[in-house]
Amino acid sequence: MLIVPEKEIANLMTRAAAFDAVKGVFASMSAKTAYNFPVIREAIGHADALYGFKSGFDKAALNLGLKSGGYWPGNAEKGLTNHQSTIFLFDADTGKCRAIVGGNLLTALRTAAAAAVSVDCLARQESEVLGIVGAGHQAAFQLRAVAEQRDFKRVVAWNRSPEKLDTLRSVAEELGLGFEAVSLDELGAQSDVIVTITSSFDPILQQGQIRAGTHVACMGTDTKGKQEIAAALSGDARLFTDEIAQSVTIGEFQHPVAEGLVDQDRINELGAVINGTTAGRASDEEITIFDGTGVGLQDLAVASAVVELAVGQGVAQDVEF
Ligand code: NAD
Repeated sequence: MLIVPEKEIANLMTRAAAFDAVKGVFASMSAKTAYNFPVIREAIGHADALYGFKSGFDKAALNLGLKSGGYWPGNAEKGLTNHQSTIFLFDADTGKCRAIVGGNLLTALRTAAAAAVSVDCLARQESEVLGIVGAGHQAAFQLRAVAEQRDFKRVVAWNRSPEKLDTLRSVAEELGLGFEAVSLDELGAQSDVIVTITSSFDPILQQGQIRAGTHVACMGTDTKGKQEIAAALSGDARLFTDEIAQSVTIGEFQHPVAEGLVDQDRINELGAVINGTTAGRASDEEITIFDGTGVGLQDLAVASAVVELAVGQGVAQDVEF
């Protein structure tokens, strides 16, 4: 059995490899050659922790496994990341554990890759202004990955605590992009592409705040009750997601569906756009929204890619198991 420790991931995994892995598995999900198993997420009644599993099987790539992990709010005081994940891959022919892979950095990379794939498929080609809502741990990963998809000139950003925007400012400057901290009205009026990456339980962006032709990637909502955009915004937009079942239960589209503003059959799989079985953006005026809920197969895809890279570079630890 192979082990790829968390400390090795940064030297192995690239944004390009994460993008390819995520794009490929979205396509497989839509082609029904890969499927996710039901998500388990529990408050364990200890250390205020939320713990769970995301798992699935990609028949074409033979990726079988799970990501185990969750959120331990007291970890920062112990010098640890609050979000903790480990990915387990199993041999699809025998069930033997094939690899254990550190999942913290991979989670950020695969989440940012999902937004990037949505921008690649759905944003207007001439998009120049990238809006980021949120400035937590994931935000800089989102900025780096999405910035690669179009010839962006500027980043405008908003965060509930504006003083936390400094990291995004330095990343934008490093990428040679202009940066401005703005109000939500300014962000909506200027952006061609918007990424929302917060843990909000109330809508942040409102109807009318976003201009025609915008692509919005909602990446923060991954739990029942969380919400980043007003439900009414989805009413007039073209809607896309990684997995429809997850989107309408724990993703952003849980709200417009529950409020009767959107029929579930209006939501398209991003994988179907990748496969060419569903049309993407139809006009420069259309608002497109991608609900990136985060699926287990994304984790398996990036973990499998990193195991291959680790073996190739001789840094995978091989243990008898
Ligand atoms: P974080 O705790 O580091 O940052 C949270 C961010 O949300 C901050 O910018 C904070 O200001 C903002 N925020 C919180 N409550 C808000 C409110 N009521 N209004 C406006 N802003 C608010 O979290 P993170 O690691 O950056 O993750 C952000 C979100 O992304 C979380 O909800 C997390 O669960 C989710 N996430 C989703 C995926 C996925 O695949 N879709 C993967 C990883 C994380």
